[in-house]
This record gives sequence, C-alpha cells and structure tokens, in this order.
Amino acid sequence: MAQLIDGKAIAAAVRADVAGGAAAFLEDAGRKPGLRVVLIGEHPASQSYVRAKARAAGEAGIEAETLRRPADLSQDDLLTLIADLNADPAVDGILVQLPLPDQIDETAVIRAIDPAKDVDGFHPENVGKLVLGEETLEPCTPAGIVEMLRRSGVETSGAHTVVVGRSNIVGKPMASLMLRRGIDSTVTVCHSRTRDLPSITRQADILVAAIGRPEFVTADMVKSGATVIDVGINRVEDETRERGYRLVGDVAFDAVLEVAGAITPVPGGVGPMTIAMLLQNTLQAARRRG
Ligand code: NDP
Repeated sequence: MAQLIDGKAIAAAVRADVAGGAAAFLEDAGRKPGLRVVLIGEHPASQSYVRAKARAAGEAGIEAETLRRPADLSQDDLLTLIADLNADPAVDGILVQLPLPDQIDETAVIRAIDPAKDVDGFHPENVGKLVLGEETLEPCTPAGIVEMLRRSGVETSGAHTVVVGRSNIVGKPMASLMLRRGIDSTVTVCHSRTRDLPSITRQADILVAAIGRPEFVTADMVKSGATVIDVGINRVEDETRERGYRLVGDVAFDAVLEVAGAITPVPGGVGPMTIAMLLQNTLQAARRRG
C-alpha cells in the first residue's frame, strides 16, 4: 500500500516559512508584500480558487486584495487595470485568474503583466528563463510538485519522470523543472496523441497526471512502487453530497494506492501546494523589488 503524500501538511510548512519571510520583509521594507488577484466573471471553480488564495495570503502576512470585474469586461479595460497594477509600488504580485471570457485574449493579458510581478510564472520572459534553467518566478503548480517531492524525500536524480499532459500551465513547465540541474530526472512528456500510453506510464518512477479526466490513470498504468502525483481536479456529480458534486483527481486513487509507492490525494495533494507556492512567489517578487 502506498504512502500518502500529505500536500496539505507540506503546504502548511511552506506557508509558515513564507509567513516568517513576510514578517521579516515588513520589518525591513516597512510594508507587507502585496498581491492583487483579478477575477473576471462568476466562474464557480475560479471563485473558490480566488477565495482560497486571498485567505491564505492574508494568513501569511501578505496584503492581498481581490479585484472583481464583470464577465463582459473589455480587453482594453483589463489591460488598463494591469498597467495600473504594474505601476503601483505597493503591488509585488499580479495574478489574473484563468480561464478568461471569450472576448479577452489570454496571451495578450499574460504578456501585459510586468514579468517581475508575474507570480503565476506564465509570462514568456519567465517561461524562457525556466527553460534555460535560470532563476525566475516558477509556475505555481509544477513548483509546488517539486517542493512536495523534495520535502517528501523522493529521489528525482536519474529517476524516470513521465508527465501526462503538455499544457503551458502544468505539463510543459513540469517537464522543464524536472530536467533542471539538481533535480536531474529523465523526462518523458505524453499527450492525447501518444501511442500506447500505458506502456510509457508503466516505466515511470515518478508519474505526474495533468490530464483533466476523472480517474483516467488506472492501476495497470502504474509501476509497482512508483510515486504518483495527481494534478487533476475534476468535479463529478454526486447526489449524496450537499453541493451535488465531489472532487476527484486524474488518478483512480483507490486502485492505484495498492500499486504505487507514494501517492498524492485529491483534494489535499497538489492543490494546497499550488497556493503555497503563489505565496512564496509573492514574497520572492517583493524581496527582489525591495
Ligand atoms: P489542459 O486541458 O490544458 O491539458 C490537458 C492535457 O492532457 C493536454 O496536454 C492533453 O493532450 C492531455 N490529454 C487529454 N486527454 C488525454 C489522453 N486521453 N491521453 C493522454 N493525454 C491526454 O489541462 P491543464 O494542464 O490545465 O490541467 C490538467 C488538470 O489539472 C485539470 O484537471 C485541472 O483542473 C488540474 N489543475 C490542477 C491544479 C492544481 O492546483 N492542483 C492547477 C492547474 C490545473 P493534448 O495536448 O494532446 O490535447
């Protein structure tokens, strides 16, 4: 039976470290690190992510504010808002919660954010630095996974890491981070066109599932003793729950638990780490800006 990797507990430790750093920053700089989260429209999952991010930031001694705008906000108005935040000396981190409504071009928005305040790590300048192995603001979800592996003592050097999913926010940066010197994994990235996926996932010492399909990774796709990181957050209908749904990952948890060496739960695995790394990025951005 696999060991459970407790993302919630590890995230709490990261958040405590950030709180210490934020207190020291306040002493030195005379202000708290500042985070602005921009939420456009009423997307239900986005609303709950944004609430969790703002609450966690406040608890860590970060001055966080959520800027809510209507779903029909124009792209020009959003770009003006971002320009204002870029120019505001009290703001260290800017996060525009994705997805955005159809009338807004996500790429243009990401490019408009000052790379020094890009706490999501999505700006092309930061992505380029990541690929080059330079220090930068790293995308929160993959950075959180690396931190979780490190704090759980999972050996990454020479390990075969198989990432299923090639999105810009999870799969691709995950691959770049695992390749980095000091982490030194051998990396394979799979996607919807990959042939005979199970034959590849079965080779993984570390398997990262970032697919967006409930319980897609089954026990026969996992090598005995592998570390399985489940990034997926999927809502599936469940009438026994008051809210009418429950959250499941991309991994068939109960069955894979029997095969894997270690596994992250959903919820309580990667999700809390993503938020913790956002706080860490905000503190890092504040320190660099002074
Ligand atoms: P995307 O939809 O952007 O990417 C999904 C990837 O999975 C794509 O690369 C796609 O391949 C691949 N894929 C889809 N179907 C298959 C298949 N049958 N076989 C192999 N690969 C497949 O999703 P994201 O990366 O944004 O998110 C993935 C999941 O992680 C979601 O459930 C999301 O909610 C969750 N998430 C969780 C976070 C957290 O904090 N825990 C943060 C971010 C995301 P192709 O490119 O060929 O289409």
